[in-house]
Amino acid sequence: TQGASADEYFSSYADLSVHELMLKDKCRTLAYKTFIEKNPDLFQDKVVIDVGAGTGILSLFAARAGAKQVYAIEASTLSAVCRQIVTSNGLDDKITVVHGRVEDVSLPPGVQADVLLSEWMGFYLLHESMLNSVIVARDRWLSPDGVMVPSAATLYLCPVSMKDYHQENVDFWRDVYGFDYEPFQSLVLQRLRSQPVITTVGPGQCLARAEQVVRLDLKYVDAEDVLTIPGRFRFELQQYAILHGFACWFDVEFEGDVDVTLGTGPEAPETHWQQTVMLLPDALMVNKGDSLACSMLLTQDSTNPRRYNICIEVDEEAEDDDEEGDDSATDKG
Ligand code: SAH
Repeated sequence: TQGASADEYFSSYADLSVHELMLKDKCRTLAYKTFIEKNPDLFQDKVVIDVGAGTGILSLFAARAGAKQVYAIEASTLSAVCRQIVTSNGLDDKITVVHGRVEDVSLPPGVQADVLLSEWMGFYLLHESMLNSVIVARDRWLSPDGVMVPSAATLYLCPVSMKDYHQENVDFWRDVYGFDYEPFQSLVLQRLRSQPVITTVGPGQCLARAEQVVRLDLKYVDAEDVLTIPGRFRFELQQYAILHGFACWFDVEFEGDVDVTLGTGPEAPETHWQQTVMLLPDALMVNKGDSLACSMLLTQDSTNPRRYNICIEVDEEAEDDDEEGDDSATDKG
């Protein structure tokens, strides 16, 4: 499976629009830029490895902050463009662009990095499983007292109401120019219930305080730690509402003399990651003060490890009597 899916994965990153989207995501890019510029001691005269350099933006920030040597490793064909950008900016002596997967490339013998820089986060943090490559690079080249940038990542879960989304994407099919589109609606529902939706959730749609699913310390996390991530949660609901499902989002922390946090939740400014929503087969009426218990299991897919299967189960003994039907959702992400 590795061959075909790896090719597909890296060819998706040969697409210029993907990089345009990321570079124009100011929250994302400025979090890295700000951290690097506010922590010059971490970069001045240091050896830096940029895992998945793309167009090279993070390597350029590091070089401008005074890094002695930056290895910009990029597996997609974009590495050629990255090399040209480095040259256009007169940074050939500082940045070495290395084409290939971090798992396969070799760096000059004895290279030990002071800093491992990477933007590896996917939808619901773990989609794409690029973290696995970051871990490989860290174990190969980061010096024992080296620094991970970012240094930690946290995934959150929160019950949400998706009234507008439901209206536009489900109720819409009830009356299409005066016709009943129920057969189409049931196909739409089938898809919505088996796949998470990437969309924007406003703070007002959050029905409880978000709970932490997992926090990863990137210096020490291992590949096995992200194979399966189980969690049990109890939410105290804060309003009378219809609960349509659960939203996931993450934040990443950059720790230095000056800390920076990149948040991607409903309260944070919008990013290209938006939020990931798992819809329940049937909505639940909930009341302020209700307590909602559920479990979640994220499992890296064995046939395509770049994907996760996400399973959320709401406990039967939820303290309300309005619920109907099966209340578990299995989502493939
Ligand atoms: N650092 C850039 C791009 C981030 S997107 C920026 O911040 O704008 C992630 C990039 O990592 C993609 O270009 C992808 O092709 C690359 N990548 C993912 N896994 C990789 C691996 N194992 N080895 C090398 N490059 C990888």
